[in-house]
Amino acid sequence: MPIRVLSASNDPGLAHSRELLLLDQGCEVKTSLSKSHAQELIQSHPFDVLVFGNSLTPDVCQELAKDFRARNRQGKIVEVHLAHWDPPMSQPDAITIGPEELIAAIRDFAEQVSEPSDQDGLVRSLPRVGLNAGEITCPHCQILLVMDAVMDSITKVQDCPNCKKAFLVVNDPPVDPCLS
Ligand SMILES: [Zn+2]
Repeated sequence: MPIRVLSASNDPGLAHSRELLLLDQGCEVKTSLSKSHAQELIQSHPFDVLVFGNSLTPDVCQELAKDFRARNRQGKIVEVHLAHWDPPMSQPDAITIGPEELIAAIRDFAEQVSEPSDQDGLVRSLPRVGLNAGEITCPHCQILLVMDAVMDSITKVQDCPNCKKAFLVVNDPPVDPCLS
């Protein structure tokens, strides 16, 4: 999956060349040319990376950073600066000078984003509960739950509607009485 980048800028010329640069790297790019447009995009599209151009003011960056992080905690923010002594405008994950550094930072983030999640490890660590004639008992709060759907899979992650904690439903095949 291509990394999704929002490039925020106030300068149409710089924004355009940055968009071409990022497209060339295989990124999916949207460009905003105003704070309100950036906010609209943040609310309506998922982004992995937010790039702040140096034409933005620290006030705008901080506001957009807040909106962006509220939408995507794992999202990364890159600031494009003109010089190493420029102070950061928000709390960026990276500060880059020039296109090479920007590309390197985005590649870095793309690797982190594409790392396999620990979904399997998470599932293995959940408490297991046997399905008993369509009923299960929540291992966290001991409430009795009736499963409304017949499960075709053997195991299933279920959130308790009462305590909201997850557990693993194990649907053991029926025991053949002739075998016991
Ligand atoms: Zn519960």
